[in-house]
Amino acid sequence: MSSLHPDTRAVHLPKPPLNGSTPIATPLYQTSGFVFDDPAVFADGMSRPDGAFVYGRMSNPTVRTMEEAIAGLEGGVAAIAAGSGMGAINCVLLGLLKPGDHMIAQTALYGGTAATVTDLATRFGITVTYVPEDDPAAVREAVRPETKLLYLETIANPMTQVADLPGMCAAAREAGIVSVVDNTFASPVLCRPLEHGADIVVHSTTKYLSGHSDVIGGVAVFAGDELYRKVWSFSSKLGATADPFAAWLTLRGMQTLPLRMARHCENTRLLATRLAGHPAVRAVHWPGLPGHPSYELAAKLLPDFGGVFSFDLVEGRPAGERFMSSVKLALLAPSLGGVETLILHPVTTSHRTLTPEELARSGIGEGTVRVAVGIEHAEDLWSDFLQALDQ
Ligand SMILES: *Cc1c(COP(=O)(O)O)cnc(C)c1O
Repeated sequence: MSSLHPDTRAVHLPKPPLNGSTPIATPLYQTSGFVFDDPAVFADGMSRPDGAFVYGRMSNPTVRTMEEAIAGLEGGVAAIAAGSGMGAINCVLLGLLKPGDHMIAQTALYGGTAATVTDLATRFGITVTYVPEDDPAAVREAVRPETKLLYLETIANPMTQVADLPGMCAAAREAGIVSVVDNTFASPVLCRPLEHGADIVVHSTTKYLSGHSDVIGGVAVFAGDELYRKVWSFSSKLGATADPFAAWLTLRGMQTLPLRMARHCENTRLLATRLAGHPAVRAVHWPGLPGHPSYELAAKLLPDFGGVFSFDLVEGRPAGERFMSSVKLALLAPSLGGVETLILHPVTTSHRTLTPEELARSGIGEGTVRVAVGIEHAEDLWSDFLQALDQ
């Protein structure tokens, strides 16, 4: 399997075996637990992730199939599914950190992750140092004896900075600390952080992996067995478990992930390029455009640049708000990675808790509009954007 292209591996999913034949599609095992003939097998299954299926909080065949499928796409040894992306992120952070530990995180973080890290710092005494996403020297400088973990995002929200994964993960490895990469925006089609030296990859499967705006889910993928078992022993107690039906929908969505990603990127290139040339637009933020601060790094690291971009209008906030209430095809909604195009206003929604200084540091403007581009026909999206810009 591992020699096949992601497009092929996404279609041919691993399958739990039956007696002598196997269903083409992955069955939905909607059960809370499993029945045993042998008490020893029962007991063994409770104590490790790779024993018999025992109880749904610890594992389920449909969920396991999804874990193996995503681990396969990311090139990891195993994965742990969770009830949401934040569930997966919390499993990893809480499973690996203890009071008194120190972690290093990139400054531009997904809002929920930033809030979690702040909470860990204030309530559990885990200290944090923030560094730019492309500065390995800053990681080396920040490392202390109690530093345990480096936390990165392949492509950040909403300004789409790209992390220097090879450089940053190498700095973490030299320091003997675990590197964790949120790969939600890139998906394993555009980037496989384990290949660049990361130890753990996390995803909100709510986004591109499931791809149809009908699932909340998350997953953590591990490069090695030791970290996998350590996090599993915590996650199976935490109970942020993935539901079998959510895993089943995610598996179904994943089979078209490479096709969808290609279209998301292609549509985004067209919209971002045309908007950059429009007189009402001040700036477009997408790493595929020359002039984006991550352009050169992104060109080295990624085969394409993803389906999320943001832009600022010349006339600032009132123009941004007018644009958002004028689009007809694009929907004003949270989230990203689904088949339909969604837009939002970061300052009043996803980034509402940032202080004016934090907003200024991240480059998010009062009128910045974030676009999560869907798989509609690009010219229909452009017509919609043009009529909204005319308002
Ligand atoms: C959405 C998202 C999350 C959180 O995932 P949920 O499924 O909403 O819990 C984490 N990281 C990134 C980059 C995201 O886009």
